[in-house]
Amino acid sequence: MDINFLNNAFKDALPEQIANQKQTDPEFEADNRPIRRMHLNECAYLPSPKVFEAIKEHAPRIHRYPDLHWNEITHALSNYTGMAQNRIVMGNGSDEAIVAAGRITLDTGSEMLASMPSFPSYYKNAIVNGAKLLTTGIQKNGAIDVDLMLSRITNKTKLVFAATPNNPTGGVLGNEDVEKLVEKVPDTALLILDEAYYEFTKYSGAENQLNIMKKRKGPWAVFRTFSKAYGLAGLRVGYILCGSEEVYAGFQLARSTFNVNILAQVAACAALKDERHMQDIVSKTIVERQRIYDGLISLGCRPYPSEANFISAFTPLMAKKIKEDLAKERILISQVNAVGFEKCIRITVGKKADTKAFLYEMTKILAQ
Ligand SMILES: *Cc1c(COP(=O)(O)O)cnc(C)c1O
Repeated sequence: MDINFLNNAFKDALPEQIANQKQTDPEFEADNRPIRRMHLNECAYLPSPKVFEAIKEHAPRIHRYPDLHWNEITHALSNYTGMAQNRIVMGNGSDEAIVAAGRITLDTGSEMLASMPSFPSYYKNAIVNGAKLLTTGIQKNGAIDVDLMLSRITNKTKLVFAATPNNPTGGVLGNEDVEKLVEKVPDTALLILDEAYYEFTKYSGAENQLNIMKKRKGPWAVFRTFSKAYGLAGLRVGYILCGSEEVYAGFQLARSTFNVNILAQVAACAALKDERHMQDIVSKTIVERQRIYDGLISLGCRPYPSEANFISAFTPLMAKKIKEDLAKERILISQVNAVGFEKCIRITVGKKADTKAFLYEMTKILAQ
C-alpha cells in the first residue's frame, strides 16, 4: 500500500484506522417497533417550537453564506454566560472545538492528557497531531481523577482535557478539583473544561465553575454545546469560552470559515430564548435518570451516580453481549471502551417508555 502521501502522524495511525473501520449501524428489517436511540446521549425531546419557527423564517436565506462572525448568537451567549462577546468562538458542534484545540497546541513530540474512559474525540486529537497520549483512570464516583492527572503532567504536556460530568461515567468535579487544575496545570498547557452537560449540573444547583476557571493565569477554555440539553445535536452548534485574547485568536485561526450554518445559528438563538423549554427537558430527563438508576440497582448492576443525560453501569455480563441483545430488541445503547470496563454499559436517558422498554429487556437478558 502506498502511504507516502501521508504525513508522519497519519502514517503511524493509518494501520489501526484501517483495522478498526467501523461497521455501519445494525440494520433493522421493516418492523413497526420503534428504534430506541439510547446510545449517543442525544436529547429525547424536540427543541423549542421557537426553533422550528426560526428555521422556517430563515429558510429563504439559505442561498447566502452564514454570518462568519456569528454576531447574533455570540451576543446572546455573552448574556447567557457573562463572557465578553470577543471571547466566544462558535464551533460545528463542540467536536470542532476539540479538533481545533489539538491543532493549536499539539506537535510531534508533545503530549496530550485526558482520562480513560472519557470522550473518544479527545484521543483522536493526539493521534492526528502525532502527539503522545497520556491517560489516567477515573475516581470511584465516575469523575476524572485530578490528582492522578496532575501527577502525569510534564513540560511537554500542551493540552489537558477535563470533562465534567465525565462522559461516559457521569461524575462531576468538585470545586476544589477545578481549583487544583486551575492552579497546578502549568502555563505551558491549554486547560480545557468540557461542560457539554452544563445545563444538567446547573439545574441540580452546582456552582458555576466558569468563575473558578476565570482565576487561571495560564491558558484555558470552556467548551459547551447545544447538542444535549437544547436538543440541537443534528444542527451542530457548540461554543468555546476563551480565557484570553491569545486563546481566542488561536481558536479563530484554527476554525473553518463558515463553520456554523445559517439555520444552526438562528436555531441556537431561538433555543436560548426559551429557557423554560430547556429546563423542562432537563427536569424530565432527571426523573427518568433516577428510574434507570434504581432499576439497574434492583437488577444487581452497579451504576455510577450521574449528573448528565446518561448513566453508565457495571453489569454481570459482558457489555458487548448486552449491547447486541438489546439491539435485537431495537434498543441501542453503547459500551464503555476502556480496560477494566468490559462489563460496563452506557445508556442515554430517554422518555418514560424508553426506560420501561430498556429495563424490561435488561431483566430478560440478565435472567438468561
Ligand atoms: C456530547 C459531547 C460533546 C460533543 O458534542 P457536540 O455534539 O460535538 O457539540 C463534547 N464533549 C462531551 C463530553 C460530550 O459528551
